[in-house]
Amino acid sequence: MSIRLSKCSLGETERKNVLSVLDNEYLGMGREVKLFEEEVKRFLQTDHEVISCNTGTSALHLSLLALDIGPGDEVLVPSITFVASYQAISATGAHPVSCDILPDCGFIDVDDAKKRLTKKTKAIMSVHYASDASRQEDVNSFATKHGLRVIEDAAHSFGSRTQSGMVGQSGDIICFSFDGIKNITCGEGGAILTKDPLVVERVKDARLLGVEKDTDKRFSGSRSWDFDVRRQGFRYHMSNIMAAIGLGQMKQVDRLLDQRRKNMFSYIDELKALNEVVILDLDFDKLTPHIFVIKVPNQRDQLRTYLEKRGIETGIHYFPNHLLSKYKTSYSLSKAENWHKEALTLPIHPDLSIEDTHHVVSSIKAFFT
Ligand SMILES: *Cc1c(COP(=O)(O)O)cnc(C)c1O
Repeated sequence: MSIRLSKCSLGETERKNVLSVLDNEYLGMGREVKLFEEEVKRFLQTDHEVISCNTGTSALHLSLLALDIGPGDEVLVPSITFVASYQAISATGAHPVSCDILPDCGFIDVDDAKKRLTKKTKAIMSVHYASDASRQEDVNSFATKHGLRVIEDAAHSFGSRTQSGMVGQSGDIICFSFDGIKNITCGEGGAILTKDPLVVERVKDARLLGVEKDTDKRFSGSRSWDFDVRRQGFRYHMSNIMAAIGLGQMKQVDRLLDQRRKNMFSYIDELKALNEVVILDLDFDKLTPHIFVIKVPNQRDQLRTYLEKRGIETGIHYFPNHLLSKYKTSYSLSKAENWHKEALTLPIHPDLSIEDTHHVVSSIKAFFT
């Protein structure tokens, strides 16, 4: 038996949708992309605009650029995140300022972030680590108090709920990822959600080489021939092929998200009595897990090797970004560093069964006895 750490789960609809795009021979950004954006907006029941793009990383990059963040600016970001958050910031020329995390949940520590404020700080990028957005309010009030813009790296939290609703219903700018292993996938893909009309306009234009107001034309199967370009743009748009996969995923979104939650609760039920592992302090009732992380204070690496030998793939989310050569800090962040020593990610995906989670847990128990 072999159990993968993460994977996508595709159905017949995704295959049919992709074939129909291939049959139509309109592969770029058109009708399917428009439908996918509408479908995401409907599912999240949000008044924010939904603007798709080709990756979660480009969603973050476009958001920062729309805020005119660039050289000389600083953006606060937790050290424990996928390096994509950092690359998106440094791609603008701005400096990602590493902050420590809360030791029980991995969310950015606002008190630590406060120490790192300077005149150059323009924004804070919070990360919904392990899909938990329950502490986002603390970041929002911190940002309001210090005049910062907020970008939520919500790559993990599609389908999670906040105190007041779904992730993506409120907040300044929210970025999702639809890469191959996220809660839903487009193959690769991302989206920016915001109510700010200037950000909406800039992001829409910048995803299509800065060609002004091209989106509506593309969505009706046409394109601009006379146009102006005022700002830097990119080829960051979503294609109809990607959107076709995403539309198929949205057809089975309840199953995809429910199975992730069921597996999470099965792990929690069975692991909470085990003294050798620590369950994170997350708002499990509200979240839909992209990853399921536990802490193993002793013998984490030995446990990993043991599970690997039994065909169970695990992960470590994440290597602290402030220790990477490109982003090396002069200060240490003890909680982030400790996190990397103790964190262990167990397999979770929609094709993992409850029996699979039992197998993973009994293997963990076998290791410790
Ligand atoms: C996946 C991920 C991203 C980037 O998304 P891509 O679609 O892979 O570019 C950004 N931040 C975090 C925390 C992620 O997990």
